Formats: sequence, C-alpha cells, structure tokens
Amino acid sequence: MFYNKRMRQVWNTLTCLQCKEKIIQVSDTILNPNIDSKLKQKILDDTWMNTICPRCGALIRSIAPCIYKDHEKKLLIHVKRKFDVQESGYHQRFVSTKEAFRELILIYELGLDDQQIMYIRKILKKRHQKVFFIHGDDEILVFECDGEIKMVKNPAQKLPDRGECITYEI
Ligand SMILES: [Zn+2]
Repeated sequence: MFYNKRMRQVWNTLTCLQCKEKIIQVSDTILNPNIDSKLKQKILDDTWMNTICPRCGALIRSIAPCIYKDHEKKLLIHVKRKFDVQESGYHQRFVSTKEAFRELILIYELGLDDQQIMYIRKILKKRHQKVFFIHGDDEILVFECDGEIKMVKNPAQKLPDRGECITYEI
C-alpha cells in the first residue's frame, strides 16, 4: 500500500462479533500525536478505534492500516500494513495488533529500548503463551506472563537470555 499524503481517511467495514451487524467506521490513515494531543492517551487507555455496536451494544475493538508518525520521538510505526514511506533518522517499526501497538507507544513514552524489551519478551515467550510488557525503567522491566507479573532486573547489565525472572507476589 502506498503512503499517500492526500489520502487522510478511509472507510472500514466492521462486523460485530456478537450480533454480526455491519458497521462503517471512518479511520485516519496518518496518525500524528504531535497534532492530536489526546491520541497517545487513547492508545494507552485502549479506547482508540473502539466502537459500540448500535444494535446490541457490544464493544468492537478494531484496528485499521495506518502510519503513526511521532516527530518528537522520531518514531514511525506501520500499523497493520507496510507502507512505502521513506523517512531518514526515524525508528521504523511494524505492528499488526492493537496490543503490540499500545505496547510500543508505552515503551517509547517511558524512554526505553524497545529492541531490548522485545528480546527479553522473546525469551519469556518460550515458557509462556501470552507475554505483555507493562512497565519499566533502567533497573527493572515488568511483564505480564499468562496473567502473572514477572520482573526482569538490571536488563541492560545482563545478557538477555540470562535475565533473571522473579515472580512478584501481589
Ligand atoms: Zn452487535
């Protein structure tokens, strides 16, 4: 798909999983958090692109192909589809799910190294089905692994595959 600066919005047809109602949703093809000040918070709160089915009231969580371009963080995310876009000096990433998109925004908001986190995540994935990054700083990274909270201490000082996982009791 080509990145067209004039093509700002597209129409998507969604299907309600509960009652099969078809809903038309308009979505932006270029997301700019530097202009839309509420965008990041919506993505982090998981309210971005959510619709309520007019027939049965079910929540419909959707994600449509778009480009997310954060000039301040020099971050360019291809959402759902790889766009033909050239931007030098940007971190270019690709995500296909809402969860991965939200996680990536969070990592950059916290000023962390996403490649390091993805590496540790891959190690954790060997033992767990669902692994999500939740929070962290330079000293500790917090993941949710199959509903359990696990912390990886001193991520930068250890080889990622030797990262110590400690189960945190709540
Ligand atoms: Zn419905």
